[in-house]
Amino acid sequence: MAEFSMQLNEDQKTFQDWVHGFARDVVRPAAAEWDEREETPWPIIEEAAKVGIYSTDFIFSNFSDPTGLSMPIALEEMCWGDAGIAMAIFGTSLAVAGIAANGTPEQAMEWIPQCYGSPGDLKLAAFGVSEPDAGSDVSSLRTRAVYDAAKDEWVLNGVKTWITNGGIANIHVIVASVDPELGSRGQASFVIPDGTPGIRMGQKFKKMGIRASHTAEVILEDCRIPGSCLLGGKEKLDEKLARVREGKKAQTNAAMATFEATRPAVGAQALGIARAAYEYSLEYAKERKQFGRAIIENQAIAFKLAKMKTDIDASRLLVWRAANMAATKVPFTAGEGSMSKWFAGETAVRVTEEAIQILGGYGYVREYPVERWHRDSKIYTIFEGTSEIQQLVIARAISGIHIK
Ligand SMILES: Cc1cc2nc3c(=O)[nH]c(=O)nc-3n(C[C@H](O)[C@H](O)[C@H](O)COP(=O)(O)OP(=O)(O)OC[C@H]3O[C@@H](n4cnc5c(N)ncnc54)[C@H](O)[C@@H]3O)c2cc1C
Repeated sequence: MAEFSMQLNEDQKTFQDWVHGFARDVVRPAAAEWDEREETPWPIIEEAAKVGIYSTDFIFSNFSDPTGLSMPIALEEMCWGDAGIAMAIFGTSLAVAGIAANGTPEQAMEWIPQCYGSPGDLKLAAFGVSEPDAGSDVSSLRTRAVYDAAKDEWVLNGVKTWITNGGIANIHVIVASVDPELGSRGQASFVIPDGTPGIRMGQKFKKMGIRASHTAEVILEDCRIPGSCLLGGKEKLDEKLARVREGKKAQTNAAMATFEATRPAVGAQALGIARAAYEYSLEYAKERKQFGRAIIENQAIAFKLAKMKTDIDASRLLVWRAANMAATKVPFTAGEGSMSKWFAGETAVRVTEEAIQILGGYGYVREYPVERWHRDSKIYTIFEGTSEIQQLVIARAISGIHIK
């Protein structure tokens, strides 16, 4: 088992500095522009691909880091730069996590490189679970996948909503029901290859925050894909369904397997936004003078900053712990992944709001980045499981009772 240390080693520090440099020099200066434009920041993704941050190698080396800390470190730094742009760059990795969690090693080798493409020929990927009537309740998905044995093809029909990179992605990973009577245990994940007919973008959403990240509906109409696009393969699915029908527990749920693995990474993103707001407001509080003294000399302001910093550090401890547990295959027995995402998400909302308060009127206007950080932070209490759902996961884990 890899040792867990709160001190980053030299390699990790070098890696952190490298990502931080990209976030400082490329991402942060572009943040306000792409927030206003509400478009995918292709030139910035291109830069990320050129330096190797948007690439298959990057994701493979982070996923295989025995300490599990590389991904949270990278995401914290990138979201410190800008969460909207970071999501445009890392939205693809959610689909990649879906492939890695549910696919065979051969499927991972085939599809993951196609999610990124290469500099000059970038590709994007999207992970589609949520539907208009199935958000928190992923057991009630209506999107159906029906097997056409004669052609060895799957046929998908349904509507996915709120999908990051939805409809503009080259590769879509879609979670669909193969047996609606079995609820979440009757679901499977499918890769929809680039150029497949029958998949299209519906409405593109205008959002409060992370506006450089594209969010849209995805509509599947008789979308036919080869049998080999079922992640994990037909044999494994049939075995799983048979076990469930016999009343035995399924070992995995397609959507949940992905979310469990990605929750600490989502917490790390929230942490990056919170840290950006804290650092900015700390400097501001030292500079800004009212009543003849720096505003930080008032306990009311200094104590806010003390709490902000404490909550940020606590978030990082929870995120690193969960990421390390996931990497070293220590089971989450108390919903540790959910704890990290919940605490970091709520911290980001609180810290960015306090940062606005510290800046006063300057915090409320778009000439300063703090209002954007607050808008960006809010999504972290909503997507990849709302704060309420994270608490449900923790409560069930610690009690052994199916809390509703
Ligand atoms: C910008 C953005 C990007 C997204 N990207 C993706 C993506 O790439 N792929 C994807 O599949 N999805 C994505 N989502 C969807 C996201 O995961 C869902 O919005 C989220 O899971 C919540 O679902 P919902 O919006 O339907 O809310 P609902 O499930 O309707 O929840 C509404 C409220 O009820 C509460 N609630 C629901 N059930 C319970 C309960 N049992 N106990 C207590 N409270 C409860 C919730 O916590 C929430 O406060 C994205 C969403 C957004 C906004």
